[in-house]
Amino acid sequence: MLKTCKNLLKKNAMNNQIEKELFELLGDEHQMTSAETPLRPDAFEKSDAEKMNTIEKHFHMIMEEMGLDMTDDSLRGTPHRVAKMFIQEIFSGLNPANKPKISVFENSYHYDKMLVEANIRFNSTCEHHFLPIIGKAHVGYVSNGKVIGLSKLNRIVDYFARRPQVQERMIMQVFNELKTVLNTEDVMVVIEAEHLCVSSRGIKDSSSFTSTIQYGGIFNEKENRDDFFNLVNKEK
Ligand SMILES: [Zn+2]
Repeated sequence: MLKTCKNLLKKNAMNNQIEKELFELLGDEHQMTSAETPLRPDAFEKSDAEKMNTIEKHFHMIMEEMGLDMTDDSLRGTPHRVAKMFIQEIFSGLNPANKPKISVFENSYHYDKMLVEANIRFNSTCEHHFLPIIGKAHVGYVSNGKVIGLSKLNRIVDYFARRPQVQERMIMQVFNELKTVLNTEDVMVVIEAEHLCVSSRGIKDSSSFTSTIQYGGIFNEKENRDDFFNLVNKEK
């Protein structure tokens, strides 16, 4: 995101209004302080049902405040739908209870080269604007004697995507989780995503997308990163 903003800033240096909006965006992005999602200590003391009730009431007020007629048949159910969608779907990855259970298996095939799962599609939400982030993750690792089911890689990406996010934090969370689950440093993650807060509002640049890359262990060597990218590009 930061890189995209800087490039756009260069391109549009002459345009004051756009520049101001970009500074605002840059300011937003600087607020990510750690790889952990900032959660309150009492985040899960209330039940999902209680949270949905409260969100529904507040969302009703937001819509009403905007002047919408909340007695209209088309709008009446919206606050309830939004509340349910927030808690049960798009932000369900906030709750550790929803974390996918990952079981590891012995690497009985003795396959000891890298495994790459490319083009893992995900939908996330920008925590600065609550607009969608739509992207693809590419994940690779070398087994340290343990392997996990391929679909578990998708599930891990999906879990961390289902939160208010910034892309830089999401990639760190996926990377750290894979290192822990697989008990190895030999992990690489690449994320490419379109941020609707960039493409549909503010600067309205629909062609830019944001890339992040994180790796450790054998991927510190360039030839292994090259192998990773060759495998990813083959599957595109
Ligand atoms: Zn945003």
